[in-house]
Amino acid sequence: MFDASLKYGILGLARSGIAAAYKIKELGADAFLSDTQEAQQVPSAQDLRRDFPCEFGGHTDKLLDCDVWIVSPGIPLTVPIIQKGRAQGIRLISEIEFGYQIKAEDSKIIAVTGSNGKSTTASLIYHILTKLGKKCILAGNIGDAFCAFPIHKPGIEYIVLEISSFQLDLIKSFAPQVAILLNLTPDHLNRYPDFAAYCDSKMGIFRYQSSKDFAVLYQDSSEINKRDQSIKARKLYFSGIAKDTPAHIDGKFIHVGSEKLSVYDLKIKGRHNQLNAMAALLSIQALDLDMSQSMKAATSFKALPHRLEYVDSIHGVSFYNDSKATNCDSTKSALESFERPIHIILGGSDKGEDFSLLTDSLQKHAVKAYITGDTADLMREAWLGKVPLEFAGDLASSVRKAFSEAASGDNIVLSPACASFDHFKNFEHRGEVFKGIVREIKREKE
Ligand code: ADP
Repeated sequence: MFDASLKYGILGLARSGIAAAYKIKELGADAFLSDTQEAQQVPSAQDLRRDFPCEFGGHTDKLLDCDVWIVSPGIPLTVPIIQKGRAQGIRLISEIEFGYQIKAEDSKIIAVTGSNGKSTTASLIYHILTKLGKKCILAGNIGDAFCAFPIHKPGIEYIVLEISSFQLDLIKSFAPQVAILLNLTPDHLNRYPDFAAYCDSKMGIFRYQSSKDFAVLYQDSSEINKRDQSIKARKLYFSGIAKDTPAHIDGKFIHVGSEKLSVYDLKIKGRHNQLNAMAALLSIQALDLDMSQSMKAATSFKALPHRLEYVDSIHGVSFYNDSKATNCDSTKSALESFERPIHIILGGSDKGEDFSLLTDSLQKHAVKAYITGDTADLMREAWLGKVPLEFAGDLASSVRKAFSEAASGDNIVLSPACASFDHFKNFEHRGEVFKGIVREIKREKE
């Protein structure tokens, strides 16, 4: 489907845009690069200027000379340049769509989307495939971009892709052999007109699949149930409640097909991770690979950093870093993952969520909520008088306050339910700062 005679415009020069540009060059076509940031703000600007015609500091009409635009997932589709491109009949695609168009035919794609659990599940699938000795890559929203790999050459057996809704908004033919939708709960409401529009975007992962492909779906989600009739692929459901789905939990065992796995053998914590493990194993079933060996491989998979990551214990108080919990549902899963009520640290930059969604879980599972960051007022409004709250100031003061109030055997969990951009570069930075604070307290106490 790749046409080297076309001219490609790249809008947004972050990871995926840059990878696409170099792939276009490698394949012998022309790319014109454009970013609203000034060159000084783009770390690789000098190299890009050497290798491509580029513009920085804004998108100009030069882009209109291109036939196809590869649009960064960071650019909202409502901005004027996108409207202009559409009006001119320019073909707008995402880097995921471009990668799909150029990939070698023998590589199978397993694509993972959902509101939460994408990185964990995609990494788990990759871990299992690697243990099975398969030649595979893990790409997309995690690690390196799809186009950063030699995907146009044969030999990669499996491509595991983590995919966000923004990347799905501009697909035109992307049809993974296995598409997984983990869950559908509110997120990114600052980018979509409403929750329904966000859900429809996620459902796009199934749009171009055929009856030869597989769809792995979470049966317990009413939002997914409402929308799954349109899926043409063969459906494989997993459930934490039903007992008759291809993957389900029965007592303390995960069942997939005729094989079972004790949940105690998994190193990843919490019921949400059992759901992720079922989804990952169903993709193995869809690919017709060895289930017993795959279950064994799953047991050696450890939590990724910043996802309910155990940090340390000081005077019997355990600290967990769940900085990647950037929406209410992921924080809810953290609250439900501990035997004892927790001291939870919440708050950050707002994504338009309704924090009252967390009230019940906080009442059930939290001793106290320590609120920090830009959402402090919204959280006060949602929980005042309903949940014990503490407004201690910044992250360090909140962690210290929680530690001063925790008893031996308690857990202190950073699980903000918000993005990190109010005071941090990204969620990784926030998680590292949290771990640094824990290290500091430990030094002081020993
Ligand atoms: P994503 O890539 O979708 O953001 P991650 O695997 O990075 O997902 O996890 C993000 C956050 O969501 C973490 O706080 C994690 O504990 C939580 N989480 C993981 N899987 C699920 C799930 N299936 N349901 C709800 N929350 C989850």
